[in-house]
Amino acid sequence: MYRVIFVYALLFSMGTSMGQVGFKAQRENMVKTQLRNRDISNEATLEAMLNVPRHLFVPQNLRELAYTDGPLPIGEGQTISQPYIVAYMTQALQLRPNHKVLEIGTGSGYQAAVLSEIVDSVYTVEIVEKLGRSAEKRLKKQDYNNIQVRIGDGYHGWPKKAPFDAIMVTAGAEQIPPKLVEQLKEGGRMIIPVGPHRGIRQLVLVTKKKGKIKHKELMAVRFVPFTRKKEE
Ligand code: SAH
Repeated sequence: MYRVIFVYALLFSMGTSMGQVGFKAQRENMVKTQLRNRDISNEATLEAMLNVPRHLFVPQNLRELAYTDGPLPIGEGQTISQPYIVAYMTQALQLRPNHKVLEIGTGSGYQAAVLSEIVDSVYTVEIVEKLGRSAEKRLKKQDYNNIQVRIGDGYHGWPKKAPFDAIMVTAGAEQIPPKLVEQLKEGGRMIIPVGPHRGIRQLVLVTKKKGKIKHKELMAVRFVPFTRKKEE
């Protein structure tokens, strides 16, 4: 009897450790083929994408697809962005280790984890309570201790923690929320998908220099919509 249990335990531990090795190899392959071979060259971004276990941020039945070149459903009608888009938006913010970053649209928590590998602190706001709470748990479990999750409408940003060195919005907005621009530091950068409801949107880079706000369209993208609380 003991021997049966022992053999089973051995097989189980081999299985899981082989799984981990498998995911690491898939992650290395993702970084090489989907990121480096395209236009992601920022080393901090590549390193973060190599480190964060994306398979732990997708539903269990989709783990095997975690490192494929596309977005995946995460429940509540929401999606985790394609790895390339996560890396592209991260790279565009020109992050530094001392930065404080605001993310709107926590979703699975994956993008927040990627940001937190590079910067000092990440503040992330999610409007769907269920998603926000489970992302918070997931991040705690993986020891991401420099991320704070808040449930609320990201349209208002996070005034108490402002200003931010960088802001990333991961839901498609029809307009740029003015309060987010206000909460950007002098010299700060914000990236946000902007465009018509459910249509193709443009990833817009907003910069604030000497008080002047500049907008630059970077590329066409598809994103789940930025929603608002009903009472507002
Ligand atoms: N960054 C996420 C993916 C985000 S999908 C990840 O890495 O997994 C977009 C998310 O934005 C969804 O979870 C959606 O609920 C959220 N969202 C939409 N409108 C919002 C708003 N006004 N404030 C905060 N979050 C919002």
